[in-house]
Amino acid sequence: MMPTTKRALHGETLESLTLLLTEHGHPAFRARQILDWLYKKRVSTWPEMTNLSVPLRQWLDETFELNPTAFVLTKQSEDVTDKLLLELSDQALIETVIIRAPQLGVGQENSRKTICISTQVGCAMGCKFCASGLEGLKRNLSAGEIVHQLIQVCRQEDERTPRARAELASFDNLVVMGMGEPLHNYDAIIRALTILNAEWGLGFGARRITLSTSGLVPRIKQLADEPLGLRLAISLHGATDEVREQIMPVNKKWPLRELLPAVKEFSEKKGRMVTLEFILIEEINDSLEQAEKLRDIAYDLHAHVNLIPYNTVEGLPWKRPSLTRQEKFAKILFNGGVSVTLRREKGHAIDAACGQLRLKTERAREAAPSPA
Ligand code: SAH
Ligand code: SF4
Repeated sequence: MMPTTKRALHGETLESLTLLLTEHGHPAFRARQILDWLYKKRVSTWPEMTNLSVPLRQWLDETFELNPTAFVLTKQSEDVTDKLLLELSDQALIETVIIRAPQLGVGQENSRKTICISTQVGCAMGCKFCASGLEGLKRNLSAGEIVHQLIQVCRQEDERTPRARAELASFDNLVVMGMGEPLHNYDAIIRALTILNAEWGLGFGARRITLSTSGLVPRIKQLADEPLGLRLAISLHGATDEVREQIMPVNKKWPLRELLPAVKEFSEKKGRMVTLEFILIEEINDSLEQAEKLRDIAYDLHAHVNLIPYNTVEGLPWKRPSLTRQEKFAKILFNGGVSVTLRREKGHAIDAACGQLRLKTERAREAAPSPA
């Protein structure tokens, strides 16, 4: 892909596109036609927009990037996860994941399908266990780059089912849990989710969208006042400041005494249960005291707890605890009346943890730069 400075058309809302069109002497009704080509028909070239005049198509071409991400490769794992590696116009790489979690006793066609999207290239939060943050933040994704990941997901689905055209609505959930800290790229993620949710956009229900954050307190408060009815997940990973700040530098800025009331406020304002994510890392946060503290926090917040056995990251020393240990930890929560799930990690073998696929490809590139 050639570097481009043009703005991505997929980052425009009905309002912003209408304004731009009218400012440039084009009729306002063209905005809906254009958005229809983008989201209902999913075209990837300007000439396909056959009901637009040639001068309008020319203006669009000069003004906007129509393909802000380019497909590089897909990696599949046990037919459960598809990782799409996408290249941006400045050659940065991001990934988007499709997770097909089979339900007990039903076939693949009845499995729950979840999409996981990225919001930044790299991440500035520097969590010690996470591959995405190893090399810091490269840049924010634009709203258009975030939205276009979903267009690529639909195209990927089209390949799997050549006769039926895949619709985003056929997915059960969308999680903002890929590379990056979404609340560190606040305006772009809100704009992208608005486009995803809108009837003139991808029409995906906000209640099926979960945003995960490492705990940027002022932004959580701001999010609680947004009209979008999203679900919220908090990457907790430590039930005391002492343990949490060892592995998450963000805890120094916003410790639990500030984070937890903000989460409670969100949950009460929105009237919905928040999820606490807790990666289990051997001898770091898997003690039974941590389990008891986590139980008390979750109970107080009426939150659901998602326990995730740690996925090993190349170059990092951490390990996942034994299955017995994981189950003991979960049981303390369960016995305390907390809603808890212990995730059985799928796709561990092929770098399921966030950011690892991209990191490997980038390292391979650095080792053997392409002649182009
Ligand atoms: N930055 C946001 C969203 C992206 S991270 C956040 O931190 O919430 C998505 C989830 O993957 C987070 O809960 C994160 O803690 C988790 N994660 C990161 N590295 C992991 C690893 N090696 N094993 C298991 N989960 C991991
Ligand atoms: Fe960033 Fe989330 Fe990884 Fe922490 S866990 S470094 S916030 S992507």
